[in-house]
Parts: sequence; C-alpha cells; structure tokens
Amino acid sequence: MVLNLIFLGPPGAGKGTVAQAVGEKYKMVQISTGDLIRAEVASGSDLGKKLSEIINAGQLVGDDIVGEMLEKKLKNLSSSDNYGGAIFDGFPRTLPQAPMLEKILGDVGQKLDLVINIESSEENIVKRLSARWTCSKCKKVYNTLTIPPKEEGKCDIDGEALIQREDDKPETIRARLAQYTEKTAPLINFYKEKGLLKSYDGNVPPKESIEAAEKLIEGLL
Ligand SMILES: [Zn+2]
Repeated sequence: MVLNLIFLGPPGAGKGTVAQAVGEKYKMVQISTGDLIRAEVASGSDLGKKLSEIINAGQLVGDDIVGEMLEKKLKNLSSSDNYGGAIFDGFPRTLPQAPMLEKILGDVGQKLDLVINIESSEENIVKRLSARWTCSKCKKVYNTLTIPPKEEGKCDIDGEALIQREDDKPETIRARLAQYTEKTAPLINFYKEKGLLKSYDGNVPPKESIEAAEKLIEGLL
C-alpha cells in the first residue's frame, strides 16, 4: 500500500522529528523540493544547469519545473520494491501548488491520502525556539531547555556572556510565525474542505507527538 502525506505545522512544532519517525516506521520517503533541486543541480544535467542559473540570479524556481521534478521522482520511487509512499516537505507551500500536487499524484496513479496539521501554541514555539544561546566569545551553542550552561547566561568554557542571535529572539520568532500562519491558512482551508486534514495538539513531548501522528496514519491502513 502506498500512502501520500503532507505535514503542516509552524516552525518549531516538531514537524521534522515526526516526519522522520513516521517515514522510518512506514517505509515512506520524505520528499523535499529543496533536496530535489539541489540533487538536480549536482547531477550537472541540462535541467540542473538551468536551475543553477535561476538560483544564481536570485530567482525562485517556478512551479512547473518543481512539478516536473516531483513527477520524475515519484515515478522512480513507485517502481522500487518496499515503497510505502511519500511525505512531502516544503510542497505545497502556496494554494496554487495544492491542486498541482494532486494532479501529479493522479498522473502516477496515486492520490493524496492525508494532511497532518501539527498544532502548537505560540508560547510553546517561542519557548522552544528561543532556547538557543551562543557564547559571545567562543561561539559554543547552548539550549536552555536541553543543554543549559552550568551558570545561567555564562559560557561553561570561558565564562563569557551568552547572547541570542537575531533569529532566535522571541520577537523574530513571533514575526516568522505570523508569516507562516498567513501563508498556510488558505492551504489548511483547502484541505479541510476536501476532508483530508487531520489536526492534533503538538504541545506535547516528541514521543507523544509521534504517537499521535501514527494513530492518524493507522486509521488509513
Ligand atoms: Zn565561550
């Protein structure tokens, strides 16, 4: 049986961890459009050369090219033994890409089975993502939740002050979250209307989050 899944969820909701665990358990392959593009460029093919020109010019790779690569990848994977399906990462990112993915899956005789939306509160995400602090001198990285320094705000090695990178500051994280919500809301509605969206509360430890996702997938098997 081949299953095709999409995970949605804000940065810091643990999407990557859950997708990896689920992929291993059900023999599903994570397909990241970023990885596909990088692999094509590295292959030195004609398409790869075209892609590297687009990227070097600072432009975005168009949906048509991404679609072509996705279709090729899916055809390849589908012909291999033990293929459990795909978990799409970073695609669709916008509403027009959603029907496109369905068309591509249809062309290879498959369909989108489930969209798992991991919900996470803003407070939790800010707490998780703002836990990273860096030593101002030796650049050692700490995480105040998982690998805290022995003395608060000071580096274990040289005792220098720990600072927060711009990306890890709560206000930056909040701005990124607002952007995510705005961009993803139409996708969430699209899949909700199609009856493909299932959400769960991701404000739990990773193990429980993985179990919640597995339960949704088991419902399809
Ligand atoms: Zn240090």
